Amino acid sequence: MTSSLLHVPPPQRLLQPLAMPERLMLGPGPSNVPPRILAASGRQLLGHMHPEMLQVMDEIKAGIQYAFQTQNQLTLAISGTGHCAMEAALLNLLEQGDTVLVAINGIWGQRAAEIARRLGANVRELLKPPGDYFTLQDIEEGLAQQKPSVLFITHGESSTGVLQPLEGLGNLCHRYGCLLLVDAVASLGGAPIFMDQQEIDVLYSGSQKVLNVPPGSAPISFSQRAREKMLRRKTKPQSFYLDMGWLANYWGCDGKPRRYHHTAPTNSFFSLREGLAMLAELGLESSWERHRASCAQLCQGLRDMGLELFVKEEKARLPTITTVRVPEGYDWKEITAFLMDNYGIEIAGGLGPSAGKVLRIGLMGCNSTSENVTRVLRALREALRHCPRCRL
Ligand code: PMP
Repeated sequence: MTSSLLHVPPPQRLLQPLAMPERLMLGPGPSNVPPRILAASGRQLLGHMHPEMLQVMDEIKAGIQYAFQTQNQLTLAISGTGHCAMEAALLNLLEQGDTVLVAINGIWGQRAAEIARRLGANVRELLKPPGDYFTLQDIEEGLAQQKPSVLFITHGESSTGVLQPLEGLGNLCHRYGCLLLVDAVASLGGAPIFMDQQEIDVLYSGSQKVLNVPPGSAPISFSQRAREKMLRRKTKPQSFYLDMGWLANYWGCDGKPRRYHHTAPTNSFFSLREGLAMLAELGLESSWERHRASCAQLCQGLRDMGLELFVKEEKARLPTITTVRVPEGYDWKEITAFLMDNYGIEIAGGLGPSAGKVLRIGLMGCNSTSENVTRVLRALREALRHCPRCRL
């Protein structure tokens, strides 16, 4: 008998079937994926340069243009999650020494500032307490003082549950010679956003929130102004993978023959295509209304339980993710564990500046239903009433 050359045996756990529990995903994402989208990601592959695949990419582009309400030619999906789109936006827009003003009222501004610092940009922070949003006056003061070439702001601050008003912001930035970069990972499809009318220069999102698509692809779009800034670059973007010149070509946005750049995650793109198709079928306005109604029902239910909403002003509440203060005398971890163990429902604790202070309940896309609101409220009521171990 020959002795094996292998020093590492096949892992026993991999020889068991894949185990997957049923969960209702009511955290800040990922959300549940409907069967139609799951089926799309399970389809047989196409080559990443096959004409049929390029057609799927064109359909994705049209779907993003609809979801973003933009006619921008440079519109595509990044092969990566929301962070990847954030990096792509910042590293293509910024060169060493450029000044970027980052509006920070939660973790996403903090992350953007961190990425921009790594890129060698001159990062200026505009701060607001978690739970607050920025007024046009706040922003104008920052623009006048710092004279940035780019402003970063988060539309749906998923760590705090704040919806940032965008009206007038693009125009204001442009009056100060600054580009407007907006993160809509947590808000796209759940709250109105109009890229062209609101003069947003770079907008990106993610797949695993309202679109109900598995994580791994991220819509992004660049205005003509943003393209011009990228064309004026003296240095190449630090990342080859995320170089928008290459990606624009691969996605057929530059009018030149498409060249291989990277192997697209074909099945992620199939599912993104279906998520965007479902949004187009439902219609943006119906989607916004669905999220508004579920969020209102949830907020009312939470208040009826005597709980305190973290975001005071109703109009500043993100319709996709609601934040509620952890009630006095309770441990947030025990509440989230109770819901998971007894009801198979995921809700989340806080993140970054809201850590330990809030519970976050997400109602996104197909999860945003009156029935799910009732289910999560019932589970939460049980957690607070019948769970002595929740009491500290
Ligand atoms: N921005 C916001 C507002 C988010 O909510 C998230 C995800 N929670 C991200 C960016 C990062 O996305 P991802 O986790 O897909 O990288």
